[in-house]
Amino acid sequence: MYISENINEFDKIQNIYRNFPTGRLIDISNSITKKYFQNKIYIRGLIEFSNICFNDCKYCGIRLSNRSFNRYELSNEKILSIIEDGYRNGIRTFVLQSGERSYLNSDYNIKKKSSNTPANLKTISLKFIEKVDKLLIEIRRRYSDEVAITLSCGVYERKTYQDWFNLGANRYLLRFETSSGDLYEDLCPGKSFSRRIQALQDLSDIGYEVGSGFLIGLPGETEEITINNLLLCKMLRLDMVGIGPFLAHPETPLAKFPSVDIEQVLKITSLLRILLPESNIPATTATGTLDKLGWEKALSSGANVLMINISPAEMKKEYLLYPGKICIYEDGFKYLSDLKVKLEKIGKQLCFERGDSLTSKRKIGINR
Ligand code: SAH
Repeated sequence: MYISENINEFDKIQNIYRNFPTGRLIDISNSITKKYFQNKIYIRGLIEFSNICFNDCKYCGIRLSNRSFNRYELSNEKILSIIEDGYRNGIRTFVLQSGERSYLNSDYNIKKKSSNTPANLKTISLKFIEKVDKLLIEIRRRYSDEVAITLSCGVYERKTYQDWFNLGANRYLLRFETSSGDLYEDLCPGKSFSRRIQALQDLSDIGYEVGSGFLIGLPGETEEITINNLLLCKMLRLDMVGIGPFLAHPETPLAKFPSVDIEQVLKITSLLRILLPESNIPATTATGTLDKLGWEKALSSGANVLMINISPAEMKKEYLLYPGKICIYEDGFKYLSDLKVKLEKIGKQLCFERGDSLTSKRKIGINR
């Protein structure tokens, strides 16, 4: 669907993808990153506030069908106290992530897998929306615009996104996961690819800084899909792009599939930086899990953001999207001083500013 309109662009990216050595792409991406971000690495605090999810995505460890772990939801008081700790430690962007509890796409999965009726579902979903409403109100009551709030809770109706925006959410992360609608709908049963893209459009229209992205090396991904993943990020003019390797989770239908190697992740990261010079690109936890030095390597290949997991230790181990996830036993805040040293070694500097995306500043005409 996205290819035909962009044949030339597709060919161009494919040519680079096929013919440029990764080392060269990394060099180019580094000079671009330096130009726009100097050596700054923006820090975000990630709070995984609930692993309850109505979806059944075949790659994801917290899918509805996986009953091998405990489901939790942090109270708003708990989330607020984590934010306060983060604030005291200098963090000015908080990413609130959860499973998806939207009644939009969920009938299919729920009818198949649980005893919930659709009416019941709607109630659960509305309760979740209301919880987020209340949380946003309280965050804005306590903090001025000094802190940025990013939500990452899945696909909801435009009105919900608008309400959350009005209540103080600034940014939204919703990966499209793969640019192939067929592959997406095969991997996420009952979900609609075009509806997910529509959600990204809604978020952008409302005025959010929009983050999306994809998994690298999903079973079924072809070279054409890989190129289109990159192209779609560009077409959506994303303010932030989160990408990471697919890592097989043993309790999912994709348990037996291998992951890509780190070089492929770095190649894609640097290509993204070349295509989207001003967007924020995090070095993701999945990349840090794939390779011991994954973060450092991604931050030296075009990435400019780090999200540290500041969820409570006892919850982190229940939010296993994939196994081996790094940092789940560490205190996110204690980790900050280690991080500073690690980053200095690669010539980077930890930066505690809000770090609004340069693309969004340009959209609303702020001069830099
Ligand atoms: N419910 C939210 C957040 C999903 S979890 C939403 O729908 O957007 C955040 C991201 O983790 C997902 O978007 C997915 O890209 C990634 N993820 C899930 N399973 C994974 C796996 N097995 N390996 C690597 N990343 C995974």
